[in-house]
Amino acid sequence: MTRVFNFSAGPATLPQAVLERAQKEMLDWNGSGMCVMEMSHRGKEFMSIAEKAEADLRELMAIPSNYKVMFLHGGASSQFAMVPINLLRGKKSADYINTGAWSKKAIAEAKRYCDVNVAATTEDTKFSTVPTQDQLKLNSDAAYFHYTPNETIGGVEFSYIPDTGDVPVVADMSSTILSRPMDVSKYGVIYAGAQKNVGPAGVAIVIVREDLIGDPIAGAPAMFDYKTHADNGSMYNTPPTYSWYMAGLVFEWLKEKGGLSGMAEINKRKSDKLYAAIDGSDFYANPVEIVSRSWMNVPFTLANPDLDAKFLEEAKAIGLVTLKGHRSVGGMRASIYNAMPEEGIDTLVSFMADFEKRNG
Ligand SMILES: *Cc1c(COP(=O)(O)O)cnc(C)c1O
Repeated sequence: MTRVFNFSAGPATLPQAVLERAQKEMLDWNGSGMCVMEMSHRGKEFMSIAEKAEADLRELMAIPSNYKVMFLHGGASSQFAMVPINLLRGKKSADYINTGAWSKKAIAEAKRYCDVNVAATTEDTKFSTVPTQDQLKLNSDAAYFHYTPNETIGGVEFSYIPDTGDVPVVADMSSTILSRPMDVSKYGVIYAGAQKNVGPAGVAIVIVREDLIGDPIAGAPAMFDYKTHADNGSMYNTPPTYSWYMAGLVFEWLKEKGGLSGMAEINKRKSDKLYAAIDGSDFYANPVEIVSRSWMNVPFTLANPDLDAKFLEEAKAIGLVTLKGHRSVGGMRASIYNAMPEEGIDTLVSFMADFEKRNG
């Protein structure tokens, strides 16, 4: 069997080297005679896996020592609630930017807990832009400010970190974490579901500045209190051990690839190639303004949507799969996270040119 190039938005492709290593370690992790899935989360074997994963993530992202790193259940979607539950701290409102489908979900959840001030929305451009700093209508009394640096469905990405003064910045980095170096110290909270750019589904990475931990709203469930997890090393209950281990293997792989600056170079080159193929033809189009185009999720349409099904079918026949666009956008979407090899982009780009020649 040959592996396909899988352009799924998530769960997404994983590095082949990581899968092979997991396979090798499946029945006997490091002489323990056990699979990682079978280990006590409090035993010394799993503790060493957990600690190494956290240390490698801290090194990769240069996470300052006054931040806690947590490996939690519940995906990014639980963070939509955990953020207001933990960060409101007696305040009544929070600022949100609406740049698309995931921002909207975060806003809807926050409205259960507080007044949401939509500091900017790009709905009038059909979410093909991001607001500039000048366009943000910030509330200086907001408990926090939330945005989605990369909108996975629309394929729009911020090229700057919003400046909010003393108001903590919260970022849903589910589809862009680890794609390039970033300055963690600019954020109060960073969170990401793993299944896009980190590892398998089942674990979310949550990075929280320590002073924001420990004053949740009254009645907050223990599992939704950051302090519970910070005080217990993410082991208050049984953590998603296997996903945590797999994320750790991906961190090791990233370090071998030159860390996040190495990845940034590769990701820029990969996305440049794909956008050049789209822009260089009237047969394909991408609606996003150039400065806000995502490095990770590249939606594109065919000038003649009647050809969509044929495009997908022929692509699949040569091993290019999961290119169908999100149902809310239509057309195609290529998600090209860290683990998508450059060869996958090259194969896609040459297929696109060939398909156009035959059908254009
Ligand atoms: C996929 C995604 C989510 C939802 O993640 P879950 O882990 O399924 O809850 C949230 N935000 C963004 C930006 C995403 O891409």
